[in-house]
Amino acid sequence: MTHAASTHGTAAAPAHDATVLGACPHDCPDTCSLVTTVRAGRAVYLRGNPDHPQTAGVLCTKVSRYLERVYHPQRLTQPLRRVGPKGAGRFEPVSWDEALDDIAARLRAIAARDPQAIVPYSYAGTMGLVQGEAMAARFFHRLGASLLDRTICSSAGAAALQVTLGGKVGMPVHTFADSRLILIWGSHSIASNLHFWRVAQQAKRCGAKLVCIDPRRTETADKCDLHLALRPGTDAALAYALMHECFVHGWVDHDYLQRHTVGWQALRARALQWPPARAAAVCGLPVAAIEALARELGACFERGEPIGIRLNYGMQRTRGGGNAVRAVACLPAVLGAWRRRGGGLLLSSSGWFPVQRDVLYRPDLLARSPCPQPRTINMSTIGDALLHPGGGSFGPRIEALIVYNSNPAAVAPQSGRVVQGLRRDDLFTVVLEQFQTDTADHADYLLPATTQLEHWDIHLSYGHTDVLLNRPAIAPQGQAWPNTAVFRALARRLGFDEPCFDDDDLTLCRQAFGTAVDFERLLRDGWAPLPVPDVPFADGGFPTPSGKCELFSAALAAQGLDGLPEVLPNHEPAGADPRYPLAMISPPARHFLNSTFVNVKSLRDAEGEPCLEIHPDDAAPRGIADGDTVEVFNDRGRHRTRARVTTRARPGVVVGLGIWWRKDGLDGTNVNELTSQALTDLGRAPTFYDCAVQVRRCAAA
Ligand code: SF4
Repeated sequence: MTHAASTHGTAAAPAHDATVLGACPHDCPDTCSLVTTVRAGRAVYLRGNPDHPQTAGVLCTKVSRYLERVYHPQRLTQPLRRVGPKGAGRFEPVSWDEALDDIAARLRAIAARDPQAIVPYSYAGTMGLVQGEAMAARFFHRLGASLLDRTICSSAGAAALQVTLGGKVGMPVHTFADSRLILIWGSHSIASNLHFWRVAQQAKRCGAKLVCIDPRRTETADKCDLHLALRPGTDAALAYALMHECFVHGWVDHDYLQRHTVGWQALRARALQWPPARAAAVCGLPVAAIEALARELGACFERGEPIGIRLNYGMQRTRGGGNAVRAVACLPAVLGAWRRRGGGLLLSSSGWFPVQRDVLYRPDLLARSPCPQPRTINMSTIGDALLHPGGGSFGPRIEALIVYNSNPAAVAPQSGRVVQGLRRDDLFTVVLEQFQTDTADHADYLLPATTQLEHWDIHLSYGHTDVLLNRPAIAPQGQAWPNTAVFRALARRLGFDEPCFDDDDLTLCRQAFGTAVDFERLLRDGWAPLPVPDVPFADGGFPTPSGKCELFSAALAAQGLDGLPEVLPNHEPAGADPRYPLAMISPPARHFLNSTFVNVKSLRDAEGEPCLEIHPDDAAPRGIADGDTVEVFNDRGRHRTRARVTTRARPGVVVGLGIWWRKDGLDGTNVNELTSQALTDLGRAPTFYDCAVQVRRCAAA
């Protein structure tokens, strides 16, 4: 392959056809290797890299349409300044210099009072380490701005893995091909982990059984041998019931427990309190279904066959989500599954990557700022934070919000509060974006950002263990800039003269892993594997303080928490409030990725319109027919949408597939109008799937 990119921040347009290696930037565990064909400076074809084993030449439907997104007529191509009222989305063009001069002046004035009043807000709009936090983190550290606790997706599960396995580590995804029983737990793999699904199909062809554990009957569930549609937030009870059956029937690897775990006797005593009948009542499942799954585990155990568990983050979005991940993460140790290739568990592999975060993010720059120990704002409660008047332990009122790689007006919980905050006239908001999203509508300055085809980046993965390099394939569209260029330019204007602000993007790519990864190989192949063993914990060696799988966590006990996984009820348990008898979950729609791709016509057409799935047993007593307009509501807000009466939703649980932009909603709202800012037990994460609602049919217009 030839490589079309310059070594600087953006691409030089190639003179003739070229193929350029890149990496998918989206928030997906698969981190595919991309091959872009460029003709006369224009990307004409995008495909999965056939030479990258994890990608195997295949992209998902969403990113197959990436060029539609890159050349979208509504791409932002010039800096814009607000002219209408906050939130009206009316702007006028300005030059980059004018915009940056004014932004720098505004930030300087706020920082002179208290730099903590400036808050960065970003997440995984790109997973790239360079266009993600590298230059941005340096800038905000040097400024002394508030720190952001980036909790919105995975921090409950991450905290659970940290105390149980020692980090975000697990079995390599390709080894699921050797599993003989695969539990797909809290994951719609076909939609959000396609390349794992391909491996699971390989295993199935060799005789493996697939089990899906998910409140919704997804297309993944359709294709599994067994589906347990449990109530949201009851996964820990199910995990304990499975362990109950293991201990009672002797499906237990005592040697593994003895040598490689901490606290198994205490775990056993707790598990024995959870016979299947008790868990069935909590989970809303037939006792027989739990017993049948336990028998599958037992049969595999007795035959010495590998059992793999693929968790995803869906299950940790309720109050007890962290403990639920802990409970499930105990199962492979009980069964001794870690001993075998194809056995164990995978939630995230990102902990295997030796990222040099201190080099990239430069937290040492805080010491040179006027505020060396700034406060931390939790991104999951940004609605409340924006509306806080300031004072007390909160610190100064937020005066400036700099948003990049995120769309909080649509994706943050209780979005009515978020929007109310963004509409504050005294809030100065800068948004770096590719499109005019709901959040962008509220910007004072809206700065056009490059897409993945237009900049350098380097990627870890949370689903496999290869590092990927992304080369720019085409020149930036219009006047779009990479995020790094914006923060470099602001640093210059604010007088930050540290040499690290001169690092170009290729230098940042090299710094991300230092010598731990062969950069020449990345330049040549586009990817490089980490040396992770296929059976990483066959002989223990977990990266915990004890070196063992910590079924009982002394670290949690020292914080006054339960050292064992707990079964915690939801903040809003089913049936607790008769006004809101239904539980609502809001998993991603198959053709969107969070709020990305919502404006890509082909994908939007495939998805149809915002809707609420409701089971016929819940629809009938409410007089709701398929296609009716319904109002879903609770104390936090109301959202009008279209009813889809379907058995994909289980009784008692409605499903608002997300995440549509608010402005696509019938009344300018989306499902997050209803979700709460309550947090999880571990990791301070949001509880999107812990949301009690009522639904009623709207009268015909
Ligand atoms: S979204 Fe996931 S499956 Fe789709 S191309 Fe990107 S990494 Fe691959």
